[in-house]
Amino acid sequence: MTDEQLQQWVEQISLQYFKRPFLHKATFNARLKATGGRYFTKTHHIEISPHQLETFGKDETEKIIKHELCHYHLHLLGLGYKHRDAAFKQLLQHVGGARYCQTLPDREQRKPEPYRYKLQCEACQLVYMRKRKVDPKKYVCGKCRGKLRLYEIT
Ligand SMILES: [Zn+2]
Ligand SMILES: [Zn+2]
Repeated sequence: MTDEQLQQWVEQISLQYFKRPFLHKATFNARLKATGGRYFTKTHHIEISPHQLETFGKDETEKIIKHELCHYHLHLLGLGYKHRDAAFKQLLQHVGGARYCQTLPDREQRKPEPYRYKLQCEACQLVYMRKRKVDPKKYVCGKCRGKLRLYEIT
């Protein structure tokens, strides 16, 4: 999708859901990684992350556009346009926008590591799951202070 097509798309969503024209610029910004979209209060421009479109598809991107348009229209109308403002929350719900400027998956949000080891207490048999190899001699059972043995899970 080109910037021009994005512009048309935002204009169309604006008219359809907000009954008001979008008179500023909407562009893709490939550097936007932490959020799906951004609204600039100084220029009234909207930026959308192209990764948003690639990763989440058109429906989710439309919700982000609605979210940014909520900032846009409320700001221009002089109403509460920030996330915590009641007017913002109401309008967002009304048009079905994304609750947040969606965070794209990055290193932190990757699938959690699987447990590859277990420590088992030789006395009470209690099991402790571990993601990394640990030295069982350095620990004792938290319940009975018994000796622990390390097992690799395959
Ligand atoms: Zn926002
Ligand atoms: Zn124990």
